[in-house]
Amino acid sequence: MDTDCLFCRIVAGEIPATVVHETDTTLAFRDIQPKAPVHVLVIPKDHHPDIAALALADPGVAADVLAAAATVAEAEGLRTDGFRLIVNNGSHAGQEVAHVHAHVLGGAPLGPMVCR
Ligand code: AMP
Ligand code: ZN
Repeated sequence: MDTDCLFCRIVAGEIPATVVHETDTTLAFRDIQPKAPVHVLVIPKDHHPDIAALALADPGVAADVLAAAATVAEAEGLRTDGFRLIVNNGSHAGQEVAHVHAHVLGGAPLGPMVCR
């Protein structure tokens, strides 16, 4: 655990979150500022700064994050009409929290994928 990391502190129960799914290696909770009718963040419980670091250090847990995102999408009723999975990495992608997280977004048409 990184004691300065917001999402590590959510995993530790020090900061409240609306948890929707949990496994031994992952936690999923609602984004505090939702950008779509459904907006859930899926994180590994262990601290890794971004998806590249996670995939290199622990590819099995990277797969666990994907599987958890699929489970959340199913549970939130997003499988029929679809959903978007976003992982921002680094400053050009606008990553704000340096603990890798996948955004599960859906519940309405999301518009085109934005590049700029
Ligand atoms: P990113 O820009 O990809 O790093 O996304 C960070 C996300 O974390 C943003 O969508 C924020 O709204 C969300 N966020 C920040 N603080 C919290 C919190 N305490 N609980 C839930 N989501 C949060
Ligand atoms: Zn962390």
